[in-house]
Amino acid sequence: MSEQRVRAGRPATVFAVVAALAITAYQFLPDHLWWRTAWQVGVGWAGVAALLAGAHRLPRPERLPWWLFAAGVFSNSTGIAVAHVAEAWYGLIDLPTPADPFFLGLYPACAGGLAVLIRRRDRRSDWAALVDAATITTGFGLLAWVYVISPVNLGDPMDRMAHATQVAYPIGDLLLIAMTTRLLRSGGSRGAPFWWITGSLTAFLIGDSAWVVLDNMGETGEALIGLRWFSTALESVFLVAFVLFGVACLHRGAREVAAPADARPAGLGKGLLALLAGASLIAPAVLAAQTATGQVEDGWSIAACSAVLFLLVVARMALLIRHVERQSDRVRELARSDELTGLPNRRAWNDELPRALERARRNSEPVAVAILDLDRFKQYNDTHGHPAGDQLLKAASAAWHSALRDVDVIARFGGEEFVVLLPAADVGDGLRAMDRALEATPLGQTFSAGLAVWDGVETSDELLKRADAALYAAKAAGRNRVEVAASGQPSSAAA
Ligand code: GH3
Ligand code: MG
Ligand code: MG
Repeated sequence: MSEQRVRAGRPATVFAVVAALAITAYQFLPDHLWWRTAWQVGVGWAGVAALLAGAHRLPRPERLPWWLFAAGVFSNSTGIAVAHVAEAWYGLIDLPTPADPFFLGLYPACAGGLAVLIRRRDRRSDWAALVDAATITTGFGLLAWVYVISPVNLGDPMDRMAHATQVAYPIGDLLLIAMTTRLLRSGGSRGAPFWWITGSLTAFLIGDSAWVVLDNMGETGEALIGLRWFSTALESVFLVAFVLFGVACLHRGAREVAAPADARPAGLGKGLLALLAGASLIAPAVLAAQTATGQVEDGWSIAACSAVLFLLVVARMALLIRHVERQSDRVRELARSDELTGLPNRRAWNDELPRALERARRNSEPVAVAILDLDRFKQYNDTHGHPAGDQLLKAASAAWHSALRDVDVIARFGGEEFVVLLPAADVGDGLRAMDRALEATPLGQTFSAGLAVWDGVETSDELLKRADAALYAAKAAGRNRVEVAASGQPSSAAA
């Protein structure tokens, strides 16, 4: 799949360079809390400004997802200032702090923006993509449950709000994981802005996960956060996330991100396959980790998660098999029908005829076969042109098809030659059917035909050969007529 490269354009490049310098400078900022807060909020707001400016260049109906991203980044980066003020001036550090609603605002806003993007890229709902997103979210959901949500004691009334706040973060992350994987599975453009958005969301998720891991590491975690270079690096991950959204939106190809997919949805790439495999292995890994410590605490959660994962894998398999079946049906149909007329082709006919003879034998019924060939078709082509000849072939096939009975089969044998299978027809029935077909032939054209009734013993080839000889006789006798084939028995007896 080759995609034309769209250059970033000047505003995106300038913004990216300035932002990169600002994030680099952040590493060397004086150890002064106000400075550091101002710098972080400044970078976040610059990301917001870039998002708004980028969105402004787009047609009005296409601005919504970028505005939602801007709202999320604004809310989250403003939270840094609120946290600082709340702590420095009012000493508020216990959950929930006034900053938490700001931090948490990121999740619904970004999820909303992603939902709009996904909806615009994929007009039709894609069940396979949904199952993939659910698989990855379930795997990570177990991680969040076992290590973050479950250890929080929700029953303790004193700290109910604190606990709810604590749990809201991993739930927000799961929401972003679900939406990001769904975006990765969507069809449509995968230019640079698509990857900048994915990168930004990944940075948020990495930053959040790092906090979770540090929280779980106890004293080691606290010691790490105490290291200035470490906390600065961790904060920078969020700064990168703020900025990447802006770069995506200022990019010249930003419009393409929300453009509907023209081709079929994106397939299962190596990266996604690895992600699916990894997510599916989370449950056994958690079980192994708990078994290793000698105490399986989350057995039920692991069992439930594994059950959901297995069901999702089965659902994915079912979707895949159904897809393959539909495609192979289509291929078989294409291989057996004539492109121009839509009639069965020679291949389909060759399968059908021996079966029809077998049926006739079983039912002790007659069966007749006719070969018909348009008269002076070369002349028609020469006079009216090849496309008009094609039109005649189409019109004639349709007319003959409707002149025949439903049980009759007409197939295109090749060129302007057709074969007709007439089940349960004797010579009289066959001649009447051919007369109806002759009369139905459009545009004042005629055909010649040879009709042969199966003798009950000959092979399909022999039967066709007799019909062909009769056709030859019809042509020789002046065309526009049907000749009945001589009985097959005497010649084979003579041989
Ligand atoms: P006769 O009455 O003896 O059957 O004469 P004829 O001209 O019909 O037979 P001939 O075999 O000499 O010519 C058949 C012509 O059919 C020649 C070929 O170009 C034309 N033909 C074969 N397939 C197609 C097709 O798919 N489309 C068109 N337009 N012409 C075709
Ligand atoms: Mg002909
Ligand atoms: Mg011919």
